[in-house]
Amino acid sequence: MVKLKLNIIKGLAESLPVDNSMVNRPQQVSNIAASLVNPTKPSDPKLLHASTEVAQLLGIGDDLIKENDFLKIFSGSEIYEGTKPYAMNYGGHQFGHWAGQLGDGRAINLFDVENQGQRWTLQLKGAGPTPYSRTADGFAVLRSSIREYLCSEAMYHLGVPTTRALSLIKTGDQVLRDVMYDGHPDYEPGAIVCRVAPSFIRFGNFEIHTRRSEFDVLQKLTDFTIENYFPENNLEGKEKYIAFFKEVSERTMKLMLEWHRVGFVHGVMNTDNMSILGVTIDFGPYGWVDDYNYGWTPNTTDRAHKRYRFGNQANIALWNLVQLANALYPLVEDVTPFEEIFATYQKEYRPAFLKMMTQKLGLMYVKETDDSLITALEKLMHEQELDMTIFFRNLSNFQKAHLTDHEDSKINVIKDAFYFDHDLLGESKEKWINWINQYLKRLNEDDLSDDERKVAMNSVNPKYVLRNYMAQMIIEAAEQEDYGPLNEVYDLLQKPYDEQLDLEKWFAKRPDWARNKVGASMLSCSS
Ligand code: AMP
Ligand code: MG
Repeated sequence: MVKLKLNIIKGLAESLPVDNSMVNRPQQVSNIAASLVNPTKPSDPKLLHASTEVAQLLGIGDDLIKENDFLKIFSGSEIYEGTKPYAMNYGGHQFGHWAGQLGDGRAINLFDVENQGQRWTLQLKGAGPTPYSRTADGFAVLRSSIREYLCSEAMYHLGVPTTRALSLIKTGDQVLRDVMYDGHPDYEPGAIVCRVAPSFIRFGNFEIHTRRSEFDVLQKLTDFTIENYFPENNLEGKEKYIAFFKEVSERTMKLMLEWHRVGFVHGVMNTDNMSILGVTIDFGPYGWVDDYNYGWTPNTTDRAHKRYRFGNQANIALWNLVQLANALYPLVEDVTPFEEIFATYQKEYRPAFLKMMTQKLGLMYVKETDDSLITALEKLMHEQELDMTIFFRNLSNFQKAHLTDHEDSKINVIKDAFYFDHDLLGESKEKWINWINQYLKRLNEDDLSDDERKVAMNSVNPKYVLRNYMAQMIIEAAEQEDYGPLNEVYDLLQKPYDEQLDLEKWFAKRPDWARNKVGASMLSCSS
């Protein structure tokens, strides 16, 4: 048997105050950043999938993945020699309100490793109760674990900052869930994902200490975060904390633009789900917009107010940054630098958005008139049900010479993106022709050749994303122990910008059956 050998390094629990009593029952804690806790042993763990790429990042060779050691450590059956797993303490604002102590209720950090100069935390999601589980069980179901596993790797390959996933393991245990919150709970297969990121620290980790006036722990946590994850910050005192916040703000804004670029809606942007590193974290009731609808949210819990809708993510990110600023305030004791950073976010977002959108349109630089070209496009896409992924991908088929073509041949280039034929008739057709003509004129002012533009556009407009209905089909098959679709889509999403003609069936609009189906168009937090 080959032995799993990892380069373990000191992590958060060895550097900050922790509760090492190992009392594992729900509790309110104080003055600690984390609590030591062991995973629950699963009864019959089975490896469903592992990422050889993530394994390599950690220094785990391909040959080791199939070994028993791997299964034992990443299912929580055994604890890696010399390590002390822990759950983190954090709070958060949920749906706009302070929710108090939350913490890692179903996540357990195993250890930190360093490989090729990069540090990583490995965390099991769904490995049983922790002192932060409150009234819940600490486990995760197969469906939500598949969604997290696939989506984090898909995000990475789309080039969007994200936590990653090493392994997907079925526990062999059953977990009780009330998917529709309607009093009809059912047993579902349990699973564990081993997530991997430099750190899983969230905005809420800082908030909890300030709320409780635990300023000493707040400062230690902030210093730990800066020292380990923002090493380029070599300032001292207040300046250090301001520069740190500024960096978090910039990364968060970039993340919002990236989510928009690929059509991702997180669904639960509570401050406990905001990574301090500016990466996508906690794949719960997320979704991908099929039609370009700014008002869409995948989360049934948010159906009334749509706080976390597609078009509101950048605003919410700023709102969340304000909460983080409140948490860091005791270290700075001056509001002015924070206000300046908020103002910068507000000032810079729109130009950065336009730059991102002009890239999606294949334009080399932003011209003054591009704002109206993009605004007109957004308006048209809202008026009709138009598939975002197909539209932007097919837009790269336009050539400068199309300008003098017949109307119908212009429409043909994008017609596959429409959900309803009637959106391409009469007045709407006229509006589209108008927009296309404006666009073609603009392309003719640009220096890129048709071929160059196509290459540039296809590198920012993915051909394949993890549409909600795809995840649902994969889950339904996996629940019948058919992992073919899981394997296929995992491979597909490793190269989301490539053509992959043999898998073109996934370059398709959402089918009708998925329009309003639970799991495929709306999801609950109950995972
Ligand atoms: P989420 O909505 O997934 O971000 O979770 C919000 C909070 O609820 C976090 O503190 C989670 O750890 C906790 N939580 C969610 N699901 C569970 C569960 N099944 N068991 C224990 N805690 C959970
Ligand atoms: Mg969460």
